[in-house]
Amino acid sequence: MRVCVIGSGYVGLVTGLGLAELGHDVTCVDLDSRKVDAINDGRLPIFEAGLEDLLRSHTGGRFRATTDLAAAVSGSAITLICVGTPSRDDGGIDTSFVEAAAIEIGAVLGAGGRGHCVIVKSTVLPGTTDGPVTDLLEGASGKRAGIDFGVGANPEFLTEGQAVDDFLRPDRIVIGGDDLALAALRELYTGLADVPLVATNARTVEMIKYTSNAMLATAISFSNEIANLGAALGGIDTVDVMRGVHLSRYLTGAAAGAEPVRAGIAAFFEAGCGYGGSCLPKDVAALLARGREAGTPLRLLEAVAAVNADQPARLVELLERELGPLRGHRIAVLGLAFKPDTDDVRCSPAFPVLTSLLAAGADVVVHDPVVGAGALDELPAERPAYENDLTAAIKDATGIVIVTRWSVYADVPEILAGLGTSPVVVDGRRMLDPSALPRYAGIGR
Ligand code: NAD
Repeated sequence: MRVCVIGSGYVGLVTGLGLAELGHDVTCVDLDSRKVDAINDGRLPIFEAGLEDLLRSHTGGRFRATTDLAAAVSGSAITLICVGTPSRDDGGIDTSFVEAAAIEIGAVLGAGGRGHCVIVKSTVLPGTTDGPVTDLLEGASGKRAGIDFGVGANPEFLTEGQAVDDFLRPDRIVIGGDDLALAALRELYTGLADVPLVATNARTVEMIKYTSNAMLATAISFSNEIANLGAALGGIDTVDVMRGVHLSRYLTGAAAGAEPVRAGIAAFFEAGCGYGGSCLPKDVAALLARGREAGTPLRLLEAVAAVNADQPARLVELLERELGPLRGHRIAVLGLAFKPDTDDVRCSPAFPVLTSLLAAGADVVVHDPVVGAGALDELPAERPAYENDLTAAIKDATGIVIVTRWSVYADVPEILAGLGTSPVVVDGRRMLDPSALPRYAGIGR
């Protein structure tokens, strides 16, 4: 199929290159000409494991990028909208990028033939695709949805850091919309015919996306709350608590006598610094705002968000417990990305941790193996020092805080042994063996 992808960010690029890998002919569109030039030159504007190989394989062949939306839409059978849907100040989502794209696409449909399908892949609240998006497409084109052109939704479930694999070997494909859209989406994914498919209406698939993220956020805040109680009571290690919980047959699915299999959800039941990234905080906030608007406040999710907002402060409390007032202490913060194997720092817990440490008067140095110093521009006031080299970052530290579970941080005990120093290590991800360090404080311990 000839496919147009609008928005060449994380989702757009992974989708576009993934579809090229599945054999489709793809044009990715973006407003940002620097992004488009970089992509056509074989350089990725984002870091995502495995994506560069796909770019190398398909640029100049089945894949290209452009700023010319009209040409890309008119040359395609299906258009996937993958633009951002950021949070508004009141927590709701800003769908203005989706709406602007719908108007531009509608104008092209008005001048073209019949049968083109427009699919919303961006995360939008239930009622957006069959509401404002359809209205704008019809208004701008003067044509009828479901008859002259198709409209549907196909939310993306990829996880940054493993996005290419998630796209090419998904656990599910969720599609919704009118008959034209459903038929086009089935054709788009024929290369993934073995993957479980949910085909329903657009509102239901929009709800599936939000419910999935709300469930994961709930698991994280639940385990953090249990970990915090365990730490307050003393003598309890949350890692062992959760290991004991995970062995339940309800979670492992193991028959009596069979080897238990660790359920994937177990990764969300590990205590840590809280959830971050471009999706969970934004999607939980959007669902909360929608619930309030609809007169159905989501009380459980309100608590999930509140627990999460407090969690980064726990790392700073652990440091203070071990070191006393932090003024004058050299503190190394390890990790800026919200999770490993990505350079995405949106809503990373690193920022509240840094802000609290700087406010406490600590002398802060930051390290991340992938994210550069430029990300520190996000901080409202003072900027901490940045160090590329892990050993140099922790050399003179009296305290170390691990924020991101990057695999290189497994080397921290060995590096410290080589340096002969014994700073307090606050393990915000519970990734180190406590006995490997002279002074260890882990979240939930
Ligand atoms: P992003 O900010 O990385 O990329 C969006 C891109 O769209 C930007 O490059 C922007 O320049 C471009 N754009 C905006 N308006 C445009 C227009 N009218 N024409 C052409 N280009 C335009 O965003 P993202 O992380 O890829 O997220 C996109 C959507 O997917 C969001 O709704 C998000 O919630 C959802 N989502 C994201 C992830 C993730 O892990 N990042 C996972 C699942 C779903």
